[in-house]
Amino acid sequence: MTLGYYAVAAIILVASLFFVGELRTLEARVVLGQRATDLFDTVLEIRRFERNFFLHRQVADLQENARQINLARDSMTANRADFLAIAPKARLDDLQTLLNDYQRQMSAFATLESDGGKLALMEPRVRTLGKEVVAIAQDMASSERRQIQATLASFRTLLLGAIFCMALLIVAIGRVLSQRVVRPLKEMEVSVAAISANRRETLSAPSDDREILSIIAAFNHMLKELDIRQKSLMRSERLVSLGTMLSGVAHELNNPLSNISTSCQILQEEVEESDHATQKIYLQQIDQQTERARNIVRSLLDFSREKEFRKETVLLRPLVQQTVGFVRGEVSAKSVVQLDIPEDLVVAADAQRLQQVFVNLIRNALEGLGADGRIVIAAQRMHPDGPPGGTALGSGCEADGEVVEISIADNGPGIAPEILPRIFDPFFTTKDVGHGMGLGLFVVYEIVDEHGGCIAVESTPGQGATFRIRLPQAETEET
Ligand code: ADP
Repeated sequence: MTLGYYAVAAIILVASLFFVGELRTLEARVVLGQRATDLFDTVLEIRRFERNFFLHRQVADLQENARQINLARDSMTANRADFLAIAPKARLDDLQTLLNDYQRQMSAFATLESDGGKLALMEPRVRTLGKEVVAIAQDMASSERRQIQATLASFRTLLLGAIFCMALLIVAIGRVLSQRVVRPLKEMEVSVAAISANRRETLSAPSDDREILSIIAAFNHMLKELDIRQKSLMRSERLVSLGTMLSGVAHELNNPLSNISTSCQILQEEVEESDHATQKIYLQQIDQQTERARNIVRSLLDFSREKEFRKETVLLRPLVQQTVGFVRGEVSAKSVVQLDIPEDLVVAADAQRLQQVFVNLIRNALEGLGADGRIVIAAQRMHPDGPPGGTALGSGCEADGEVVEISIADNGPGIAPEILPRIFDPFFTTKDVGHGMGLGLFVVYEIVDEHGGCIAVESTPGQGATFRIRLPQAETEET
C-alpha cells in the first residue's frame, strides 16, 4: 500500500512537472506571437503614414513614417533570434532588405518634397515595397498564431490523455484497494461479529497483505489478553462468592455436626443399658450426618475449583436449595426465600457456573431486603413467544425452542430506571467502596451468554426486582 501510494504520488508529480513545462513553452510562444503582432502593427502604421503623406504631403507624416520604420528595424534586430523561430532566415533577410529599401525610398521624398513630378513617379514603387513588407510581416504574425494554435491543440490532447490515464489509474487503485483492503476489512467485520456472538475465538487472516496481517495479529493478541483478564475477573468474583458462601457453609455444617455430637453423647450415656439395635440406629444417624457434612464440604470444593465449561443434566431444585442455604448464612432470619421449582425439573447447564449465577442473584436480592423481605425463586419449562420483558441481554433472547425459565423475584428496594441499562456493565455498582465490586451481574450475564441463554430484568423502584433467565434445552436429551 505504501509503495502504491508513493508510485501514485511520483506519477502525479512527474505529470504535473511535465504540464508546467508545457505551459512555459506555451507562454514563450504567446510572447513571441505578441512580438510578431507588434511588428505587423508597426508595419501597418508605417503604411498608414505613407498613405497620409501621399494624400496630404505633410512633412509630419513623413517623419512619423521614418520613426515607425526605425521602430520596426530595431524590433527586428533585437528579436532576431526569436523571429528565426517563426520564419526562415532568408525570409527575415528579405524583410530586412525590403525595409531598408523602403526606408531609402521614403527618405528620398524628403529631399524631393517640392518636385511633384518626380514624387508621382516614385510613388508606385514605394507602394509596392510597402505592400511586400506588410505581406511578410503579416505572414510572420499569422504563422506564429497558427503555431500557438497547434501547441494549444497538442496541449489539450496531452491533458485529455493524462486525465484519461489518471481515471484508469484511479479505477485500478480502487480495485486493488477493494481487493486488498476493503474485502479483508469486510471479512474481518464478519469475523469480529462472530467473535462477539461467541461463534469463534480468533480472527483468521483474510489476506496476505503485511498491514492486514499485523492488524490481525494485534487484534488476536488483544483478544487473548481480554480473555486472560476476563478469566481473572471471573476468578476474583468467584472468590468473593466463596467468601459469601463460607459463612453459610459454616452455618450449614453446624447442623450435622451438632446432630453427630448429640448422637455421640446419647450413645456414651446409654452404651451400657441400650441394646445393639438402638446403638445401630444412633451409629447410622452419625453416618448419615457425616455424609451430609461431607456433601456440604464437597459442593464448596466443587464450587471453588476452576473447571472447563461443560454442560450436563442438572437437577435444579437441590442446587438452588443448597445455594440458598450457603448464601443465607449472613442474612436476617426474618426474610423468606420461597422455592417454586418442580422436584424433577432438570436443566442442561454447567452446574458450577449455574450455582455462581444463583449465588450472585440471590446475594443481590438478599442484600436489599428489609425486615419482611421475601424472595421467590421459580422455574418452569416453556416455549417462549418472544424475548422476555424488560431489559434483556444475551445471545438466546430471540430463541424460540424449548427453554427452562428461572425467575428470581424480590420485594426489595428495586432498581432505578436510569441505572437499569447499566447494571450488567463490569464494575458498575451503587454500593459503597468495599461492599461491591460491580462484577456480580456482569459475571451472571457472561455465564448465561456462555450457555446461549438470555437474562432479563424488570423492576419497579420500591416494589422489588425480578431477574429472569432462559436456558435453551435443545441438548437435554443428548447430555
Ligand atoms: P455489586 O453487587 O457488587 O454492586 P452487581 O453487578 O451484582 O455488583 O450489581 C450491580 C448493581 O445492580 C448493584 O450495585 C445494585 O445497585 C443493582 N442491583 C442488582 N441486583 C439488585 C436487586 N435485586 N435489587 C436492587 N438492586 C440491584
